[in-house]
This record gives sequence, C-alpha cells and structure tokens, in this order.
Amino acid sequence: MRYYLSLGSNLGNREQTLQEAVQRIGQQIGTVTRCSSFFYSEPWGFESEHPFCNLCCEVETSMAPMEVLTATQAIERELGRIRKSKIENRKSIYSDRPIDIDIIRAFDDQQKEIVSNDPLLTIPHPLYKQRDFVVIPLREIGGE
Ligand code: AMP
Repeated sequence: MRYYLSLGSNLGNREQTLQEAVQRIGQQIGTVTRCSSFFYSEPWGFESEHPFCNLCCEVETSMAPMEVLTATQAIERELGRIRKSKIENRKSIYSDRPIDIDIIRAFDDQQKEIVSNDPLLTIPHPLYKQRDFVVIPLREIGGE
C-alpha cells in the first residue's frame, strides 16, 4: 500500500517537530519513500498569529488505512498534541497545534486508489484540493 500524508505544525520548533514526525512514521508505519520540502502557510479555517510549516510524504507499508490512522494519531500524541480539533455541527473547529497528520490519498498494491467515506477516515481527504499547503508539496512528490 502507498499512502500520501500531509503534516503540519504551527507551534514550537515546527521544522524539528515535522522531521521528528517523519522519522517516527518511518519507524512505526513503513518506509518513507519521498518527502517534500517545507511549505509555509497561514492558518486555514481559523485565526492565529502562528503560521504553519507543512510537508507531504509518501509511505510504503502493508498496514491497512485504519491502522495507519491509529499510528498517525499515536505519533501526534507522542509529539505533544493534546487538544483535538472540536467538531460541532459536522464542522471542524481548528486550533494551534504542534503536529497534525492527515491521510490524503491511499493506493493498493495494484495502484488502485482506495476510497473511504467513513467519517473516522475519509480518503481521498475531502478538502485537500482546496488547500495549497497540501497540493503544492503533494505535487512535488508526485502524489497529486
Ligand atoms: P484533527 O483533530 O483535525 O486531526 O481531526 C482528526 C479527526 O478526523 C479524527 O477523528 C479522524 O478520525 C478524522 N479523519 C477523517 N478523515 C481523516 C483523514 N483522511 N486523515 C486524518 N484524520 C481523518
């Protein structure tokens, strides 16, 4: 399976946290086959004085999508993410965070895109095409 993940941080040493997250993805999920450069962006969907640093990476693993989600959430916790984004009226309320990891796209071993409409895991990520901070790094690693 091949996954494209989007990582973002807007608190603390953002670049270091993202590098640490990519290293843990390599240890806990699979092989990180490609990684974009850093992309800096303003907060999306909420007001904050702290800009984001983002990147996208490609991961090869035998893990199923829900297992990857469990693993990315564990890495978020390990790297100090305490507060979850609240969801009210099915709309996310975003907030500052040291690390956020989203699963953007997934492909099976026949290179077929995996589609999931489960609210716990919606892939392809429903908003990614509207977000330059995902699309631009994703394009850089050939995952768009
Ligand atoms: P957030 O706190 O903003 O990272 O939102 C995480 C929530 O979104 C979790 O409850 C996930 O189950 C859910 N979710 C749905 N689709 C995805 C996805 N493609 N990648 C990451 N989380 C997702």
